[in-house]
This record gives sequence, C-alpha cells and structure tokens, in this order.
Amino acid sequence: MFTAVPVTSMPRWDLAAEAIALRIRWFGLFLGFLYVNFGIKVEDRLVLDAILALGLIYTIMDSIWHLRGKVFFGEYPLVVSAMEALFIGILCFFEQDADSPFRFYYLLSLICCAIRHPLPTTYVTCLFHCFSYAVLNLALPEGSSNAFLVLLMTIVLVWLTWAASGFVNLTKQIESHLRNLNNELQEQQEELEQRIEDRTRQLQETQAQLLHQEKMAGFGLLAAGIAHEVGNPLMAISTIMQMLQRRDPEPYTKDKLQLVGTQLSRIQGILRELMNFSRPATVERTQFTIRDVVDEALGIAKYYRGINNRNVEATIAPNLPVISGQRDQFVQVIFNLVLNAIDATPNGGNIGLTANLAGENIQLTVSDNGCGIPLEEQHRLFQPYFTTKKQGTGLGLFICRKIMQEHGGTIQVTSTPGEGTRFELTIPAVAIVVPETEERK
Ligand code: ADP
Ligand code: MG
Repeated sequence: MFTAVPVTSMPRWDLAAEAIALRIRWFGLFLGFLYVNFGIKVEDRLVLDAILALGLIYTIMDSIWHLRGKVFFGEYPLVVSAMEALFIGILCFFEQDADSPFRFYYLLSLICCAIRHPLPTTYVTCLFHCFSYAVLNLALPEGSSNAFLVLLMTIVLVWLTWAASGFVNLTKQIESHLRNLNNELQEQQEELEQRIEDRTRQLQETQAQLLHQEKMAGFGLLAAGIAHEVGNPLMAISTIMQMLQRRDPEPYTKDKLQLVGTQLSRIQGILRELMNFSRPATVERTQFTIRDVVDEALGIAKYYRGINNRNVEATIAPNLPVISGQRDQFVQVIFNLVLNAIDATPNGGNIGLTANLAGENIQLTVSDNGCGIPLEEQHRLFQPYFTTKKQGTGLGLFICRKIMQEHGGTIQVTSTPGEGTRFELTIPAVAIVVPETEERK
C-alpha cells in the first residue's frame, strides 16, 4: 500500500536546487584553479588566483548557509547574478582574452540561476552576462576582442536560458503535481483512518448493546424463575388462608387473616409486575400511549430503593396521539431516566415527568432537582460505559439514546451542577388522536 509522505518531510525545492548549484560552483572553481595553475599559457596567475579565491570564499559561505538549511543571499538573487557577471568578466579581462575558457562560467552561472530562481530572474541574469561579456570585449585591447564571439556568446546565452528555464519549469510542474497527489493521498489516508475509527466505535457500541441485552435477558430469566419459585408457596399459603377463613373464625383471627390476605395479594402483584417487566423483549411494533409506558415504568421504579423518599410527579397532557414502536423499549427508557434521577437526588428530592404535544412530536421530559452534571461530563453521558457510580454500568443512557434513534426520536440533556438535570425526549407521534377514556382502557 502507498503511504503519503507528510508534506513537511518532502524536500524543499529551494534547498535541493541550492545543493545542485553548489556542486556546479565547486566543480567550476576546481577546474578554474587547475586551469590557472597548471594551464598552458596563463599570465597574471597571482591575480587570477586571488579573484578565484574570492569566488572560493563566497562558495564556502554559501555551503555553510546551505548546511544550516538556508540560502546565502537568497533574498537578493539579482545582486548575486550581478556579482557573478562582474566576477566572470574580471576573470576573462585578466586573462586578456575574449575566448578565455572562463567565459564558460557564464553558462554555468545561468544554469545555476535557472534551477534556483523564477524565469524573469534567469532572463535578467542572461542580460547581465551578455552585458558583462560585451563590456569585456570593449575593455580588451585591440586584437584580443572579437565581435563575432560576442554575437555567438549572446546567442548561446539566450538559447541556454530558454532551454534551461523550460526544463526547470517542467521539473517544477512535475514536482507540484506530485505534491498535489501526495496531499490527496494524505487526505484519503486520514479519511480512511477516520472511517476505521468510526467503525471501531460502532462495533464497540453494538457490543455494549449486546452485553446489555444479554444482561436484561439473564435478569428476565432470573426474575421469572424467582417469581415461579416464590409464586408456588404463596399460592399454597393463599389456599390455606382461604380454608381457614371458610371455617368462620372468631373476629380477631378473621381480621388478621384478612390483613395477611391483603399483604399476600400485594406480593403477588409485585411478582406479576416484575415478570411483566422482565419478559423477553419483543421486536413487535405496536401502538400505545405515552401514559401507558410512563405508568408501567413508574410501577416498576417504585420498587427501587429510595423512591419512597422522593416526590415523583407525572403530568401527562390529555388526548396525546399514540406512539408507534416497541413498547418495552420505551418503558426501559423512562425507567432508566427515573432511576438516574433517583440516584441524583437526595431524600425529599423532586422528580417530574411531563408529556406534551410539540408540533408533530410528543415531548417527554424527566427532570430532577438533584446534583446536576458537570459541563465537562455532559458530552460523555451517552457514551457506553460512562458512569460516575460505584455500581453503575454506564449503559443506561447509551441504551436510551439507541432506542430513541431507532424510533426516529431524540434525547437531549440540560443540566446545571447543584441545581438539577432535565432530559428531553422527542418522539414522533402517529397522527391518531386517542381520546383519554379510550386510552385508559
Ligand atoms: P449509570 O446509571 O449506570 O451510571 P447511565 O448511562 O444511566 O449509567 O448514566 C451515566 C452517568 O450519567 C451517571 O453515572 C451519572 O453520572 C450521569 N447522570 C445520568 N443521569 C443523571 C441525572 N439525572 N443527574 C445527574 N447525573 C446523571
Ligand atoms: Mg443509569
């Protein structure tokens, strides 16, 4: 698989070009020294060596700058070109010859310039060099200058400028194209990573949901088992009691037996509710009223420790349209929210449930005046396994949001630490208005 090179680690054009220019310069200087000191007919050797030494100093500075990741005199390319034109002109002048081999330096200098600088700079440099060579010919003594050579050199210099610039332009275009491709590759890589992250999160969420469902199913089986086990002896006690009652006992015993009977039916009622709540969830979608599910959720929640010390109040607007969906799941949502509200409130705390019509939706709120949720925790509430409780699972709100999404609804929270919390559910309603009397049936 291709991996995008981070843009920052791609070679910088100016430094790469400078490295090539430096090599050309060093090689040119080396040849220059060889020619001056071991050449065939060079006069004024000392002067030429001194001028080349100046060039050497400049090239050393350039190399040091390059090692530091900078370009020596990088901001003044035309000053460098002018200096080079002067330098080469002086070298040729001291050799007292228009066809001095030093004139080839003009070509090297132009190539260096074309690699490093934009087109206009290269053409101006070409102009400098042509001018330098022309002035040199004027300055040379009669016999050493050569008008034809000036013309030829001018043509060659312009030709070289044109060819070198064209080539460098092509290279730059390829570089920019590669850079764009690399950027695209990098973007795609990031997108891919994002997608993998999303999929992993989805997978974790599905896993959490499965775990929760498994737990609920286990709890259901356990509850059904207990209800069965407790139900049989209860039935026996109830039968014995009826037998005793039929024997027409004395008023005191009769009174007590009646009391026991009431308590027994209460226990049987609790067991029935428990079994109802824990029966395996069906995927069947039915139509039901919000009042039904609120009543059922509160009916179960009343067995939760602490609820008797809270003021729970449900205000359901009359004639609300029915909801379509999986009833058990809605009961679970409200049940989870009420349990959380109980956990968050102290003794004497208030918990309120309201249901109203808001446009085409039913708006259900569960609010409490409990401890509230710190701002930095609010965005994590619906993540699986987020809990601040010792015995918490952190799955309650996550499951609530999942169920709401599956029913086309939403769940939102507003909370002020120290003042309380309010969960707001929006549930799409089926457009059938069921009268309150019918609703209660
Ligand atoms: P659990 O109840 O198992 O901790 P939940 O998903 O139901 O998991 O809740 C996650 C966390 O959200 C809780 O641990 C609690 O910190 C916070 N929370 C939920 N509801 C309330 C509320 N009404 N008031 C304050 N905090 C709440
Ligand atoms: Mg909870």
